[in-house]
Amino acid sequence: MATTRAFEVPKPGAPFTGVDRPLRAPGPGQVRIAVEACGICHSDAFVREGHWPGLAYPRVPGHEVVGRVEALGPGVTDWREGQRVGVGWHGGHCGTCEACRAGDFLQCARGLVCGFTYDGGYAEHLVAPQEALAAVPDGLDPVAAAPLLCAGVTTFNSLRNSGARAGDLVAVQGIGGLGHLGIQYARQLGFRTVAVSRGADKRALALELGAHEYLDQEAGDAAQALQALGGARVILATAPNAQLMSALVPGLGRNGTLLVIGASADPLQVAPAQLIGRRLRIQGWPSGTPKDSEETLAFSLRSGVASRNEVFPLAQANEAYARMLSGAARFRVVLKVR
Ligand SMILES: [Zn+2]
Ligand SMILES: [Zn+2]
Repeated sequence: MATTRAFEVPKPGAPFTGVDRPLRAPGPGQVRIAVEACGICHSDAFVREGHWPGLAYPRVPGHEVVGRVEALGPGVTDWREGQRVGVGWHGGHCGTCEACRAGDFLQCARGLVCGFTYDGGYAEHLVAPQEALAAVPDGLDPVAAAPLLCAGVTTFNSLRNSGARAGDLVAVQGIGGLGHLGIQYARQLGFRTVAVSRGADKRALALELGAHEYLDQEAGDAAQALQALGGARVILATAPNAQLMSALVPGLGRNGTLLVIGASADPLQVAPAQLIGRRLRIQGWPSGTPKDSEETLAFSLRSGVASRNEVFPLAQANEAYARMLSGAARFRVVLKVR
């Protein structure tokens, strides 16, 4: 019987373990993908540590998957064998729940997450439902495309839906895996782009990524500096540090939004009275649909936005994950599978 190599989490807290599993035929409405690359996202820690309710183990993580369609299940008509595709965080939806009937597939009550509710891309193959697929343009290599399917779509899609218009001042807090993409997208979307981080040593990098200005949160009050620039229409908060996010709220201009995508479990500290006078908002944003991913990939290719990646072979999934977790990776970690 044909087998496929995968790195699974055997039980919560255990290291990834290489296993050879039987190659599965796709069921109705599913496709089997020969994986070429898979990004490692910080959210994979939920699977590794068992901090996500209802997960079954063993489980293969990975929701930044790029590969080629290898086999079509019954009833799949809009994808073809050999086609380059990706699967991101949004791993499928039911089509009939209240949210789906409203066209809001991301909020599906029975929504699937690739690498959480079914096995993901730390593997040579995966089987995914057809509605989870995003087409990958030919000009993008798999390693370049993979991180755009979670980190990329989350930053691009949150910014393009933020209400900010070309010319508006948009600040991006944090220059890590999300932030280094956020700065590039903000610049390419036409915003007056201000990068906010800690340390004078980040300035050159911020400007190289496309920021018009750089504010060092260690050198002074960045919120005050944002007000001096006119106040931010949007602050995209990417570094998962609730205290630093909270400190920037006074930097919002009228009708400004603190747009939170850096997943911290700590509370934001904002006085209600801060929000009222200038009609401020605090909003969260989760990734996007596969169509949003497709548009993220196309936009990135066209505009030159690229993730900076450290690449490991699949066999080094544990080392790659440790590198991601260390916070020292510049900036995303990607498994090259083929
Ligand atoms: Zn992710
Ligand atoms: Zn649904």
